[in-house]
Amino acid sequence: MNIKKAEIVISAVKPQQYPKGNLPEIALAGRSNVGKSSFINKMIHRKNLARTSSKPGKTQTLNFYLINEKFYFVDVPGYGYAKVSKKEREAWGKMIETYLTTRKQLKAVVLLVDVRHPPTKDDIMMYEFLKYYKMPTIVVATKADKIPKGKWSKHVKIIKEALHLHPNDEFILFSAETGYGKEEAWNVLLKAMS
Ligand code: GDP
Repeated sequence: MNIKKAEIVISAVKPQQYPKGNLPEIALAGRSNVGKSSFINKMIHRKNLARTSSKPGKTQTLNFYLINEKFYFVDVPGYGYAKVSKKEREAWGKMIETYLTTRKQLKAVVLLVDVRHPPTKDDIMMYEFLKYYKMPTIVVATKADKIPKGKWSKHVKIIKEALHLHPNDEFILFSAETGYGKEEAWNVLLKAMS
């Protein structure tokens, strides 16, 4: 994928702030620190367009990145911070639910998990939520470089089983460090948007 242009267009909270037009969107979700920003940056060959290690407590927004003026990556704020208050958690949930359930341009959601660990309760809840709304989902298991190749298939199996991965959903092993899985990820994303 040749990335000619990648720019943040808006950080939105309310539907009125979502970008106008009909360009397809791919949303990216995952618990905080899973490697979501690193995934976006690796995919679009940018060092730091999506901010890495965003801290809790700051405004939780949906960040729309326009890529090649053709489609959007929509960065969904990370979940699973223990320190976030109940009120903040509810506001987060409402914002995500509104976006995911009403946005016609949304073609698929990339759910990032850490290949080293079994999915957390929050990961499983997020996946079940996406399946409840029949949202095409692409599970990306990232940080593959952090475990030896010989252990990959065992970890992949644990993740797929814990999520009860739907047969129509894609699963991609990825590393933002080495770029492993990047081409496959682009193929799957482009297919989801076609
Ligand atoms: P986010 O909170 O989900 O956006 O996570 P970040 O992208 O900020 O990543 C959290 C930490 O994990 C950072 O220190 C990254 O450098 C590191 N990280 C992310 N992806 C990978 C990966 O594929 N391999 C390795 N080794 N580290 C990664």
